[in-house]
Amino acid sequence: MVTIGIPLTADQGPSYEVVLGCGVWSRLPELLAERCPAHQYAVVSDSRVDTLYGARIGGLLESAGLHARSFVFPAGEWNKVRETWADLCDRMVAAGIGRDAAVVALGGGVVGDLAGFVAATLHRGIPWVQVPTTVLAMIDASIGGKTGVDLPAGKNLVGAFHHPRLVLADIESLATLPRNQVAAGCAEAIKHGVVADAGYADDLNRTAAACLTRSLDALESIIERSIRIKGEIVASDASERGRRQVLNFGHTVGHAVEARSGYALLHGEAVAIGMAVEAALAEATGIAARGTRARVLDLLGHYDLPSAVPETVACDDLLDAMRADKKVRAGTLRFALPAEIGRMAHGADGAWTVEVSPAEVRSALESCR
Ligand code: NAD
Repeated sequence: MVTIGIPLTADQGPSYEVVLGCGVWSRLPELLAERCPAHQYAVVSDSRVDTLYGARIGGLLESAGLHARSFVFPAGEWNKVRETWADLCDRMVAAGIGRDAAVVALGGGVVGDLAGFVAATLHRGIPWVQVPTTVLAMIDASIGGKTGVDLPAGKNLVGAFHHPRLVLADIESLATLPRNQVAAGCAEAIKHGVVADAGYADDLNRTAAACLTRSLDALESIIERSIRIKGEIVASDASERGRRQVLNFGHTVGHAVEARSGYALLHGEAVAIGMAVEAALAEATGIAARGTRARVLDLLGHYDLPSAVPETVACDDLLDAMRADKKVRAGTLRFALPAEIGRMAHGADGAWTVEVSPAEVRSALESCR
């Protein structure tokens, strides 16, 4: 078992820990009582995770004398919308979930983002705990306090920062995760290597086969390293005014591809395509060292991740979607781009994002068809 602290300043909320390892769910009742005491717990899950693990988590809480109610919504990114948030809030209020309750988010990144947004807003905010069950949620989505829902205009456009009191990641829960979901989660690990640690990027190449066959040891190792990288970056800039923006590498294009393909791609697959395009953009504009794009493509290939922009999505549509991105300033597109593997570039103004013209973005998109 490994415990990793995510330190926050007083204005950001209480610091918290990620507890990671095989079998750590058995400690959930004790850790809830210690880190997130509440009169009752609203366990939020999607339909698939609830079928797999809902009874086990509910049973653990009940047998420890903790009062828990379950709230389930249909699985799928297309349900990470205002309607599901509203439905969950209505059901919780009807069930008597008051200000003395806490939320337990049991599932992948979709559950974490939705349940966290309910916790951020219900009764003007109640505490919550993340129990991530996908690689992506363990290494990325459960760390950093971002919660929210998608709008028709784009991903994550409504949300709030609301840090959990605890993240409890049981590696054994990954045994049921399909291979393509494991690979999609590893896309965010590749991002961590590219933005912050070239040695980690090299190691990811070596461990790809073990991760894809769901070796729990291999997965635990990359999950721990990714959490340490993301935790350090989040602690340095919890509200994303500066350095934390580097974690958006691959996401400006990735979010556009994900939304404009009608969520036919998994989030991590769309981010993989986004990293391929943004690495091409960085190299074509002279921001990245030569060879950076080839190394990103090599990493994606090791994890069987896509790198080509789907033919079905027009460049103009993608550029339109990117204009709704949170990094757009005064109408100009900005990207978090690598200078080389392990080091991110600064813009001319010293910012962690770089202004790029629509023509340069279009050219990078076309080079990745
Ligand atoms: P997901 O939550 O949709 O989970 C993927 C699928 O796997 C779902 O069908 C789910 O039911 C199923 N599943 C979950 N755990 C399982 C298990 N152990 N065994 C079998 N099946 C399981 O998707 P995701 O990839 O975990 O998360 C993607 C979401 O995370 C996106 O909405 C993205 O925007 C968000 N995200 C948020 C942050 C953040 O900082 N808040 C960061 C990265 C991504």
